Amino acid sequence: MISVIGGGIAGLAAAYRLQQHGHDVHVFEVADEVGGLAGLYETAGDPIEMYYHHLSKSEETIVELADELGVADHLEWKIGKNAYYVDGTVHPLDKPWEILAYPHMSFYDKFRLTLLTQEIDIRGGRPRFDTYDDLAAFEDVPIGEFLLEHTTRGVYENFFEPLLDAKFGDRKDDVSAAWLLGRIKFRGERDLLRGEILGYFDGSFKVLLAALIDAVGEQNITTNARVTDLAYNETGVTSVTVETPTETAVHDSTAAIIAAMPNVLESLTGYTCAIDFQGAVCAVVTMDGPLTDTYWLNIADDAPFGALIEHTNFVSPDRYGGDHLLYIASYIQSYDEPLWQMTDSEVESVWLSHIETLFPQFDQTSVQSVQIARNPRAAPVYERGYRELIVPYDLGEDIAPGVYYAGMASHAQYPERSLNGGIVAGFECADRIAERNREPGQSGTDPFVTPTLVSEE
Ligand SMILES: Cc1cc2nc3c(=O)[nH]c(=O)nc-3n(C[C@H](O)[C@H](O)[C@H](O)COP(=O)(O)OP(=O)(O)OC[C@H]3O[C@@H](n4cnc5c(N)ncnc54)[C@H](O)[C@@H]3O)c2cc1C
Repeated sequence: MISVIGGGIAGLAAAYRLQQHGHDVHVFEVADEVGGLAGLYETAGDPIEMYYHHLSKSEETIVELADELGVADHLEWKIGKNAYYVDGTVHPLDKPWEILAYPHMSFYDKFRLTLLTQEIDIRGGRPRFDTYDDLAAFEDVPIGEFLLEHTTRGVYENFFEPLLDAKFGDRKDDVSAAWLLGRIKFRGERDLLRGEILGYFDGSFKVLLAALIDAVGEQNITTNARVTDLAYNETGVTSVTVETPTETAVHDSTAAIIAAMPNVLESLTGYTCAIDFQGAVCAVVTMDGPLTDTYWLNIADDAPFGALIEHTNFVSPDRYGGDHLLYIASYIQSYDEPLWQMTDSEVESVWLSHIETLFPQFDQTSVQSVQIARNPRAAPVYERGYRELIVPYDLGEDIAPGVYYAGMASHAQYPERSLNGGIVAGFECADRIAERNREPGQSGTDPFVTPTLVSEE
């Protein structure tokens, strides 16, 4: 049997693919439900993710998986309206005329920003289209330095800096230009006249998770099961030790995929990963009516949160019994930060009263409930030199044959961690196991091996 440690999307995808390769597999998940960071709350209608989630058009593996699992018809592509809150005003920033009307950047700044997003370098007066092709060339360049050199001070200070403050706080100067360029490439299609096209499942990402659980088989998944030990020798993995509320059991295993954060990899194998992670505090506020007409509102203001994401301006409130759902989100760079130290009711009070100062018409009596989720490792800090820190899928040489890693520190989760990245990481590990177990000289092509298998790392 092959053990999968962690029942988030990466672990479930790995298990699914291993089964396609004909392997006997078991997923162990420490929480009482699978899903990991894609966990859900109940609402008056469809469930909602505890942390805001959508897909970009560039993410293909998740769409293919949805198709394979028969749930692709639930996947909807919609416009997610973006805006900036600056000096008491919400500035929509999707349509060309909205961008032209934005008063906090000059026409020239907007021209340079557009060129960067189209990956055109006009430094030196001659347009070049290949400057940004090789991301590795920007791996050690600080993001601020890069933006000042490749765009304008106005672009940096009035467009990117507030976003970087919200995403990385006081770590923003550590982040590499390669990350920014990767993010620009990662962003999917835009409808020129309407804005960014984002994906979401009718019925939430639970639709995909449920289909995946069904495909893997509930009998092959154990929740409330913490893997506490991974045993291996120089020839390979031998077993995993699993603690459940009723027993501690040792399960013979021929390989193991660790589909969890790198601290779990370290505790099970001693492999150290030097990637820093940031935490997140994220609220879902259920309200009687809307706050704005924007989906994604970046806050360029000294607020105790980085963004307000009004889910029901993306998915109709009808799906939630008529309730309006708003995410309030903030990343945490240090666990000493006041927000991380606050109780949930303190966070709620600070956040709702700050929304009142930003939107004087906001009436707290329209709030029915506030649910707060926190995670100490919500996303990597994509600092300079990050690529060197990525954990390989196959840890056969670093730890022992048969040890694989599909967690958030893997290659597929750069330049942005995502559900799609988790699925790719799970598939990559499963395919490597299948390759390893193929008899020498075995003929025929395994239909499930990812064509990119040899291309990463
Ligand atoms: C605020 C926020 C916003 C996001 N927005 C988006 C978005 O818009 N679009 C998108 O695609 N993605 C988004 N993501 C990212 C996405 O949720 C993650 O990339 C993805 O869920 C990671 O899946 P995973 O399986 O790698 O890890 P996880 O979901 O972390 O799963 C790991 C699992 O391992 C379990 N585990 C840990 N230790 C053990 C152990 N010893 N034994 C057994 N089990 C163990 C954990 O309980 C967990 O369930 C967002 C994430 C956050 C936090």
